[in-house]
Amino acid sequence: MKNTKYIFVTGGVTSSLGKGIISASLAKLLQSRGFSVTIQKLDPYINVDPGTLNPYEHGECYVTEDGAETDLDLGHYERFSNVPTSQANNVTTGRIYQYVINKEREGEYLGTTVQVIPHITDEIKRRVKLLGQNGNFDFVITEIGGTVGDIESFPFVEAIRQMRWEMGKNCAVIHLTLVPFLSAAGELKTKPTQHSVKTMLEQGVQPDIIVCRTERHLNDAIRGKIAQFCNVEISAVIESIDATSIYEVPVLMLEEKLDIEVLRKTQTPIPDKIDIETWQNFLFRLNNPNYSVTVALVGKYVELKDAYKSIHEAFIHGGVLNDCAVNIRYIHSEHLDAENITEKLEGVDGILVAPGFGGRGIDGKILSIEYARTKKIPFFGICLGMQCAVIEFGRNVLQLKDAHSTEMNQKTSYPVIDIMANQKIIKNMGGTMRLGAYPCRLDPDSKSYKLYKESMVSERHRHRYEFNNEYRKAYNKAGMKTVGIYPNENLVEIVELDEHPWFIGVQFHPEYKSTVARPHPLFVGFVEAMIHFNKKL
Ligand code: GLN
Repeated sequence: MKNTKYIFVTGGVTSSLGKGIISASLAKLLQSRGFSVTIQKLDPYINVDPGTLNPYEHGECYVTEDGAETDLDLGHYERFSNVPTSQANNVTTGRIYQYVINKEREGEYLGTTVQVIPHITDEIKRRVKLLGQNGNFDFVITEIGGTVGDIESFPFVEAIRQMRWEMGKNCAVIHLTLVPFLSAAGELKTKPTQHSVKTMLEQGVQPDIIVCRTERHLNDAIRGKIAQFCNVEISAVIESIDATSIYEVPVLMLEEKLDIEVLRKTQTPIPDKIDIETWQNFLFRLNNPNYSVTVALVGKYVELKDAYKSIHEAFIHGGVLNDCAVNIRYIHSEHLDAENITEKLEGVDGILVAPGFGGRGIDGKILSIEYARTKKIPFFGICLGMQCAVIEFGRNVLQLKDAHSTEMNQKTSYPVIDIMANQKIIKNMGGTMRLGAYPCRLDPDSKSYKLYKESMVSERHRHRYEFNNEYRKAYNKAGMKTVGIYPNENLVEIVELDEHPWFIGVQFHPEYKSTVARPHPLFVGFVEAMIHFNKKL
């Protein structure tokens, strides 16, 4: 049984400082020193999970193996640590309250007034400790969403205060702040950091380590000032300078000794060895590509890059394995039409049609698939992107003129994509899709099989609609092969085109499983196909 240590990561001054990347980088470093680590995100909003949030609100919704719809930071945790997360790794205020209120209704608190302290804070602490309970982890890193001082983060900071008090040296707090550079004054300013630490102190929490996000290096005087004003040792003032890639951050944190500081603060013996070579090799290849390709990412949430975060990262991983830089040209599917398509897709080496919901921008997606299919440009369709590929093939090859998904047109004469039987009765929108990992059997004659090099794979899902099996025969006969099947329910998971150098559509989300240590085989294969296309091989 391990003596699990709990590390909290809070944020001050402003949001978007990159707490998720700092948490993931710390996890990577501790792992590299031989410790087992898991990372958790506590989100202070009232939604029970981010599954019902528009991607414009909160970026991509990340799906775990066990089918939890979670915050996109969990994607960073998995990509950095290569350890799968689960529902327990993302908890919102909504989920905490839902649990406590349900217990109240069941009569568990009979006779007592249910209050934020202790009932809500106890539930927060229980959710944090749950991850450490089975003794699997040396460290549980818990990131608190939002910024200290926000009304909604109060119960979380209070829960940290109590855990610190209960656990002593088995618990440490890292506070991430911003040290802005004022160009008019020509200097870095520590005041916002001082204020945000004061806000924490008002709530009874003294941070052990302060990580300072900055665009300029911190000199000794600045470090000294922060240490003095915020009651931390000077070695506990860690610089987090802007990096060209998020994958540089673990190395920058290693140089700043963030991991050592955490080990010291938690009185954990410091191992002499650190095994970070694989990560450094990845970085070297990332920074020294031999090739470069451009992929068009066609979707309707392109204004916010975070909406396609995992796809973006999977291209980096798949690119590195091919020593290739992948430039992503984001194309708004609503603005794509027959007139401008040649101009908008000019010079791309591949086209990816993104996942999504609803009919907005669907015509542009279908048009770009026709373009990829007829011009033999490498094509990758993910979830809705795969469904659109099926619609396009139905309309233009099988001549099923108004072929559609019943998600967009319930009256279509050819429902080539239809709602899954067990989804028809569902009324609640939250957490009710086909979610999480399911096995998929691959046809040994397929391109997918050649890439995976396995006949049974497991991939994560998030959808309500599926390929309509009534059309399976006709599609296979005409050259769109259904090469990946979920055996238990005979659902189509992968389609491929025979007469095309690389045309693959998948009902699942391969992007969720791509990590630095294990780039996803389909992304690796897609990038390779784009290099071939680019070089006219
Ligand atoms: N809207 C489609 C469905 O529910 C596709 C979902 C997705 O792309 N994640 O089946």
